[in-house]
Amino acid sequence: MARKVLEGVIIAVFFLIFLSIFVKVETHTNAEEAHLEVSNIPMSFAAERELDNIINGSLAEGYSHVEMAISENYTLKAEKVIEVKTQGTVIVPLVYTPNIHFDNITIKNAKLLNASILITEYRIILLLKLEVPEGRRARIDIKYWAVIDDSCKDKRTWWINSLFVKCKSKDEVEISPIFFLPVEGNRIPITKISLKLPKAWESWRGIVLKCVCDDVRDECLPLEFRKYNEELRLEDNIFNTFIVIIGDFKVEQFTVNDVNVTMYLPGNATSNYTGIVKDIIETFSSTYMPYPYKNLTIIFSRNFLPHSGGNFKYVVLVVPNASPSLLAHEISHSWFGCYAEFKRIHESLAEYSELSFALQFYERQLKELERYNMTLSEALDHEEGVIISYNRNYTKPLARVYIEGILDPRVRNVIQYRKGAFVFRSLQFVLGNETFFEGLRELLKECHGRECNLTDVQDVFEKVSEQDLDWFFKEWFYTPKVPDYEVGNLSVTQRDDKYFLTFEIVDKNNFTMPLEVEVTTSKEKLVKKVWIKGEAKVSFELNDKPTKIILDPNEWIVNENKKYNVEGIEIEIN
Ligand SMILES: [Zn+2]
Repeated sequence: MARKVLEGVIIAVFFLIFLSIFVKVETHTNAEEAHLEVSNIPMSFAAERELDNIINGSLAEGYSHVEMAISENYTLKAEKVIEVKTQGTVIVPLVYTPNIHFDNITIKNAKLLNASILITEYRIILLLKLEVPEGRRARIDIKYWAVIDDSCKDKRTWWINSLFVKCKSKDEVEISPIFFLPVEGNRIPITKISLKLPKAWESWRGIVLKCVCDDVRDECLPLEFRKYNEELRLEDNIFNTFIVIIGDFKVEQFTVNDVNVTMYLPGNATSNYTGIVKDIIETFSSTYMPYPYKNLTIIFSRNFLPHSGGNFKYVVLVVPNASPSLLAHEISHSWFGCYAEFKRIHESLAEYSELSFALQFYERQLKELERYNMTLSEALDHEEGVIISYNRNYTKPLARVYIEGILDPRVRNVIQYRKGAFVFRSLQFVLGNETFFEGLRELLKECHGRECNLTDVQDVFEKVSEQDLDWFFKEWFYTPKVPDYEVGNLSVTQRDDKYFLTFEIVDKNNFTMPLEVEVTTSKEKLVKKVWIKGEAKVSFELNDKPTKIILDPNEWIVNENKKYNVEGIEIEIN
């Protein structure tokens, strides 16, 4: 009941505001044509909600088309024509942003009763009240211009602003039409845009991304317009985000596992991305489940955030020199993040996918690895070192990170992404490949169409492994610690031609974990998997004197690393 009264008050206030803004505007009016000087129209401030009420209350219907011309100095000149089908007294709300500079507005076949402007934090609305005679169609002709760069700088263009560090480079531009297009409220049956590019850009290609980005989804549908001066048709409401990417792109198209892949590469690119993308899709399709969608478009954008990528369900956006690992990460989000949802856990799973793909890829393509000047195990060791150095100063366990997030992007990248990935790698080590991958496949099934949390993830792995994994999840996800191993009480005894090595491993942080222990002699290299429950006794029978003991030689676990000597034997805690 209280709520009803409140609504009544809000409606009354809204009407008062609505009436008060319709002050008389001086225009050059005759029965057929009115010219409107936007700078003369009175303005007042309003709340976003008021704006929505006005937009939703407008009954005007019609269609529109826009002719836009981009010039080589990155300015955009446009003319928009709206034909109003509704007759009688009609209010046409025109929503726009300050990027738009009006030159001239002309109204034909209707009498302009009033014009006013409301400004909110994010939008501006021009309200035109018209009297359209019976049997006539009012026509609103709007001439305006905008500077492309402004859309990147304007905080209101948050989406384009957060993804593209710049909107123009000498061979690519991004424009976000909703910021260069005054739109008629929520009712745009069809907006036809004809876009004219400078002569020098004649061979460029354009892609329109029609995106929905909200709390639930981040997805974009790509639509290519190839020809110079081709018409774009945007048929949606303003709450969908459009980005138009125009640039000197070459296109590569291929099919892999029934997925149609289209790649837009910088015109001068010479790379083997076709082979890499095929490899990624085949690898994940066989390990996880077939690629969940029919089409994938990958745009290598020169204006995109450095060293980054993003997966928007049907479109992956990445930097032009993307590494195979970065591509694997982004494409893996089609499974973890798009097909199945895990809130922030999906970054750990995508990073795990990246890591496991990179290990397989570089093992096959050793040449590719040469440019990094390190071996695979050195790369893994380096990765672990970075995680350890950040983790020492970070006290939040992953379980909390998945709920609260991490503000600092560098810390987020190391903890939520890379440490999370390594913990899933440790779970792979505990469960073995078969059970672990069955768990990931089951996760995709379980979490398709709903958002899974860490408990759901644990439940799935417990179900497929038929094991209680509480101990693993507790120590790895619910504490920020990592194991800190020490080797002690070491002795070597010789009997006949055999050497008997015994020692203790103590974990100062008291984890329960299986651990690979490698012992080297001049004649052999032996590896044992030992369960450490805070501590363990280990023994080896050897054919020669031991020279080296390595804990975690294959880098399955993130743990404190150190090297020292005990009784002439080199100890490497890896
Ligand atoms: Zn990611």
